Amino acid sequence: MSDTFDAVIVGGGLLGCAAAWMLAREGADVLLVERDQINQHASGQNAGSLHFQLEYRMIEKGIEAAKQAAEAMPLHLEAAKLWADLSGEVGEPLGVAQVGGLMLAETEAQASLLETKAEIERSWGLDVEVLGPEQVRKVAPYLSESVVAASYCPIEGKADTRTAGPAMARAAIRLGATARTRTAVTGIRRNGSSWLVTVADRQSGEQHNPTTVKAESLILTAGVWTTELGDMIGAYLPTIPLALTMTVTAKTEKFIPHLVQHAGARLSLKQSHDGNVLIGGGWPARLMTDSVGAPDFSVRPELLRSSVAGNARAATAVVPRVGSLPALRTWVGTTTVTPDQLPLVGPVPGAPGAYVATGGSAFTLGPSFAQVLTELVLGRKPGIDLAPYDPRRYERGIDVS
Ligand SMILES: Cc1cc2nc3c(=O)[nH]c(=O)nc-3n(C[C@H](O)[C@H](O)[C@H](O)COP(=O)(O)OP(=O)(O)OC[C@H]3O[C@@H](n4cnc5c(N)ncnc54)[C@H](O)[C@@H]3O)c2cc1C
Repeated sequence: MSDTFDAVIVGGGLLGCAAAWMLAREGADVLLVERDQINQHASGQNAGSLHFQLEYRMIEKGIEAAKQAAEAMPLHLEAAKLWADLSGEVGEPLGVAQVGGLMLAETEAQASLLETKAEIERSWGLDVEVLGPEQVRKVAPYLSESVVAASYCPIEGKADTRTAGPAMARAAIRLGATARTRTAVTGIRRNGSSWLVTVADRQSGEQHNPTTVKAESLILTAGVWTTELGDMIGAYLPTIPLALTMTVTAKTEKFIPHLVQHAGARLSLKQSHDGNVLIGGGWPARLMTDSVGAPDFSVRPELLRSSVAGNARAATAVVPRVGSLPALRTWVGTTTVTPDQLPLVGPVPGAPGAYVATGGSAFTLGPSFAQVLTELVLGRKPGIDLAPYDPRRYERGIDVS
């Protein structure tokens, strides 16, 4: 392996794989370093929803919070365009289907919230309309009679979490990128105008054979480990870890074409291309902690029965047919949000040539995050104004407690 690269990317989830591919496509010499296997963590464990409407977690705290969350819309709109062409460009099917998403209301208060939400979204350029009960029934006959309205966004949908990241890693390798799995980044330091990155083989949790590689640019796409990587280079990159629950049912004939969410409950629901119904939407699992009480991401979070039951109740209330499907599997995964719910994307403060991307629905946003990282590494002005997502906002004294 060469020891000098244009960019070293830390983390082989969707973001790291997409950035490696986009940079390799531009002719950059890239090293992608993944401590475990490509796609092993959040990117391979998530619900695969392509969210462009504001999600329940963004509207449940009121209109002001929703307006702030909407500042991520330029990244979402760009992601919607990128996902549409991604399978063709990567050269493998990624299971992308943008056939529309519905956010449901079962009360008049939720219906009125949807109207306000849609106004905010439209002001950012998102195509969304609020449907009344008859229209809802026509568009989505599988929904319960209890649904009184739904906001409909035609570009929402899903992609296959099992293939998207790995396919982009393969595409990057075909273009000359180097990928090292079961390899941990154990140290990073600045030397003149370069980064010296120490990487070590990882077997059974032990690290062996440390070597140092040199790169002009460093990209941190380390998911819940972002804050830890920031510490390695003396940068404050605050993230909040969330352990979440998913359930998948047995296969059945296709009857749900849409991504389904709820304006008053934690719910995301969709049917996979194989016919399984995937149920999630933010129901918590319990994060494990170490001896000093800090989250321990090396241990799988604990599944909470109350979350599995609550999620199933929310699903069957609006899609009754789901109640008759056997659950095949439940699982948990850990992801990050940021203190202000906006993504953390851009140059790492105090670390020239280092860039970070994390936070929020980063499966959806992965392609636009990767595009922005690519532009930054290549010294181009990103097409999206990154000011609202600038990691430096936390240095300016926002309360992150
Ligand atoms: C249950 C669940 C459901 C979700 N549903 C959705 C959804 O429907 N839609 C959506 O948009 N988002 C969803 N998300 C969020 C989404 O999964 C994540 O935001 C996204 O996958 C993050 O991708 P990533 O590449 O940043 O992180 P990850 O996939 O976590 O990848 C980071 C990688 O960095 C590696 N790494 C860390 N430290 C080091 C080191 N020192 N050296 C080498 N490698 C290192 C890790 O091993 C890991 O593989 C969900 C998340 C969960 C958990």
